[in-house]
Amino acid sequence: MIWNVECETMPLDKLRELQSERLINTIRKVYAHVPYYKKMFDAHGVKPEDICNIDDISKLPFTTKDDMRDVYPYGLLATSLKNIVEIHTSSGTTGKPVVDAYTRGDIDLWGEVMARTLTAGGVTEDDIVQNAYGYGLFTGGLGAHYGAQRIGATCIPISGGNTNRQLDVMRDFGSTVLTCTPSYSLYLAEAGKEAGIDFEKSPLKLGFLGAEPWSESMRTDIQNKLHIKAFDIFGLTEIIGPGVAAECELQNLLHVFEDHFYPEIINPDTGEPLPDGEKGELVFTTLTKEGTPIIRYRTRDITYLTRDECGCGRTMVRMHRILGRTDDMLIVRGVNIFPSQVEQVLLKIDGVEPHYQLLVERKHNLDYLEVQVEMTENLFSDGLKFIEQKECQIERALCDALLVHSRVKLVEPKAIARSEGKAKRIIDKRNI
Ligand code: AMP
Ligand code: ZN
Repeated sequence: MIWNVECETMPLDKLRELQSERLINTIRKVYAHVPYYKKMFDAHGVKPEDICNIDDISKLPFTTKDDMRDVYPYGLLATSLKNIVEIHTSSGTTGKPVVDAYTRGDIDLWGEVMARTLTAGGVTEDDIVQNAYGYGLFTGGLGAHYGAQRIGATCIPISGGNTNRQLDVMRDFGSTVLTCTPSYSLYLAEAGKEAGIDFEKSPLKLGFLGAEPWSESMRTDIQNKLHIKAFDIFGLTEIIGPGVAAECELQNLLHVFEDHFYPEIINPDTGEPLPDGEKGELVFTTLTKEGTPIIRYRTRDITYLTRDECGCGRTMVRMHRILGRTDDMLIVRGVNIFPSQVEQVLLKIDGVEPHYQLLVERKHNLDYLEVQVEMTENLFSDGLKFIEQKECQIERALCDALLVHSRVKLVEPKAIARSEGKAKRIIDKRNI
């Protein structure tokens, strides 16, 4: 099923024309209204007149997460604040978060691309969508919410967590669609089985899973345990949230909604654009966003694009599921985390050294983060009571900074292996 046949199956020459026109407009607008972009374009020696079609996009400079944080909170606004109706921020930065500000038009666009996403997997107005993505500043909850409502499905805004309640709601309301992270869907499958739910007989039939990396073997597992068809959906706060790309009913690569979000693949070391089929860093430019348009945003996600025809009839380019990252970002329970955030917290606490390691494990389909930190000789000799107190203090500070709970384990001075090159900060034992 296709939500917007005209757009999603547009002939390629028409699509190029539309993208070109939209890029030209966006560039003119940001040059005129966003001092940050004017400065960047000037420094790069590019003027709006140099952008005549979509292929000229490679003349433009990139935008990074750090650039976005530097102009926090409103530095990327391309319209007056009075036109902004909603704000979201992304997790996983030291200091200030990245802000996405939406106009009414942007919220409509979000509903449109999420309606495309859900329709691509078969959701209709007859469905009951149990939306277990987190509501709040995180984009997952409201993004799926707007999409489900746009279709006319019934949305249950249960948000994340509270597994017993999820299972009760699923049973009592007869949910037919589940939206959440892939790991949480497996957790629900197992908790549901223990609670006596027979998923083979339950009305649940579709899952729209994303916000973290997963694999084909995880998909098989989820489909078998929940007796649903599970679709990979992709997005990021900087661009709009979920609704950037999604699998169709063929479950083979994700169509990027490129009439609104233009993707490129670049060599992460040189910034050179790479041809279709070659793996590299995914870069997005928003073509229609009004509040905070973004030019050539470097996602740090690794994938490749293909323009091979898809059996569903959509002409929108497809991307492979995310293959990795070019940086050290971890996603734990859907929350983005960088080791540098942990370091910033540790530097403010006495009694510990900034020698640390992050251990991530997945137990019963839930992620657990343990932060091992070396204590100073002094603290080591102070005794167990003081050490435990310090562990609690760091756990609280980390929870405030990371927005996710971690267990802190203080280890003896020099216990963490020193490396001659880059310190090994992450031990990821999840077998995804
Ligand atoms: P956020 O802005 O907090 O929503 O995080 C966006 C990041 O989450 C992306 O840049 C990806 O690294 C990751 N992500 C989102 N959806 C997926 C997905 N379906 N598969 C793999 N990673 C994903
Ligand atoms: Zn398709």
